[in-house]
Amino acid sequence: MAPGGGVYQDIIESRTAYADYGIAPANGELSSPFRKSATVVGRRLGMASNSSVHELLECPVCITLMYPPIHQCPNGHTLCLNCKAKVQCCPICRQELGNIRCLALERVAESLELPCKYQILGCQEIFSYHNQPRHEQNCRFRPYKCPYAGAECSVTGDIQLLVSHLKDDHKVDMHNGCTFNHRYVKTNPQEVENATWMLTVFNCFGHQFCLHFEAFQLQMAPVYMAFLRFMGDDHDAKKFSYSLEVGGNGRKLTWQGVPRSIRDSHTTVRDSLDGLIIQRSMALFFSGGDRQELKLKLAGRIWEEQA
Ligand SMILES: [Zn+2]
Ligand SMILES: [Zn+2]
Ligand SMILES: [Zn+2]
Ligand SMILES: [Zn+2]
Repeated sequence: MAPGGGVYQDIIESRTAYADYGIAPANGELSSPFRKSATVVGRRLGMASNSSVHELLECPVCITLMYPPIHQCPNGHTLCLNCKAKVQCCPICRQELGNIRCLALERVAESLELPCKYQILGCQEIFSYHNQPRHEQNCRFRPYKCPYAGAECSVTGDIQLLVSHLKDDHKVDMHNGCTFNHRYVKTNPQEVENATWMLTVFNCFGHQFCLHFEAFQLQMAPVYMAFLRFMGDDHDAKKFSYSLEVGGNGRKLTWQGVPRSIRDSHTTVRDSLDGLIIQRSMALFFSGGDRQELKLKLAGRIWEEQA
């Protein structure tokens, strides 16, 4: 290694590390060999005071971030476009608003570059002030919501965290393997309009799949529905297929589908009817007996589609 080369490398790396944490180097001295990283540090240094810039960009009325055109009253109180449309006078000083733009703040907004708020979860993207909200809504690093379908659960996190959460907090059944046979039983099914059965999680191909089963009214008719959701992104969900089969008395209903990502809420999937739907009368017929008890045996298989 060339003398000094290693040292140079080390310094560059430590500068980068500073930059990543948005912390200013203690001496603040950025000499010429580091000009390239200095711009990065400089930009990130700007971000250290981001919170105050953010405060400046917050509309004082509705507390959301303002995007150009940003307006101000003759005394300089700023206001977002939405709020401006609703008032004649400045909500702060009561002066008549007129039509004054706050070009300086607009320029600040336009020059801002912000890291994705999921940076800590692994997103490396940096966005202009304008594009950031749109990105964050779709960032693939954004946390997932708990897929449990019973009572509303506010837990969010990555898949690993949610799998343990389902196991520990919801006491969900976990199964290994890509084929399954599941029994759904309910006495007095006629009394039930809406019901959600316990979620089952299948562990196969290094991923987790949630099997949902529920009762609801479809155009006034009581139905049962079974469907699978994939614990991961839509992009990966599409690499899998699944089939469900239910029957009895010599009849059989089958469904083949693509598991839906848990990014889609379970009600979204249910309302799009993307699963096996069984009319209640058919379900009771499948159950055998005197139609007083629901006893469905659901068989299923998950497989990986060839790329
Ligand atoms: Zn506003
Ligand atoms: Zn004002
Ligand atoms: Zn992101
Ligand atoms: Zn939960």
